[in-house]
Amino acid sequence: MDSIFLFLIGTVFGSFFGLIIERFPTGESIIFGRSHCDSCQKMLAVRDLIPLFSQLISRSRCRFCHSKIPLTNFFLEFSCGWIFLFAWWNWLDLPAFLLLLLSLILSIFDLRQHSFPLGVWLIFAIIFISLFPSAFPPYCWLILAIFAEYFDLKIGSGDFLWLFTASFALSFLQEIWLIQLASLLGIFYYFLRKKRTEIPFIPFLTIAYLMLLLAPQIL
Ligand SMILES: [Zn+2]
Repeated sequence: MDSIFLFLIGTVFGSFFGLIIERFPTGESIIFGRSHCDSCQKMLAVRDLIPLFSQLISRSRCRFCHSKIPLTNFFLEFSCGWIFLFAWWNWLDLPAFLLLLLSLILSIFDLRQHSFPLGVWLIFAIIFISLFPSAFPPYCWLILAIFAEYFDLKIGSGDFLWLFTASFALSFLQEIWLIQLASLLGIFYYFLRKKRTEIPFIPFLTIAYLMLLLAPQIL
């Protein structure tokens, strides 16, 4: 029973993160203002806001104007449910739990908006630094992030900022492995798809992190 409750709590957080992803770029208030459809602006009722179920029942379409609701919302709620459950079962420690939540949010931002929400990252960075003040994350990632803002390093500043927060959950060596793995996955993806444009890298860093988390369980 506790597991179901924790899963549902996770889906509620996932739904909240979805709201952040939608409203953050538009500057709309995240706390105030009722939820509405982005296409027809109709106010949503409670039955439209139940994590997972509302989107399943409506077949991922707005009840009023039938415009499509991004499937990433469902994915975010579903994944957050499992992340909360895994943490409850002690399969994830606190740094891994926080890093997975942050990675999910940043990945969806990267895929949907091609942007990096600095404010969201900053909140998580402050949580990491406050909870683990004794940890000494390699600050070189922050320096590289500043460099990437001004020079073309072929890797975005957001990716370096992600690596900074990841260093609370991983050793420096693990991070180097993770970058190699993410780069390989990224190169495969680049050659597999037809368009030769810039690829969002944070989703690949996240997949590589998941692989590193799962590897000890499999090997
Ligand atoms: Zn609508």
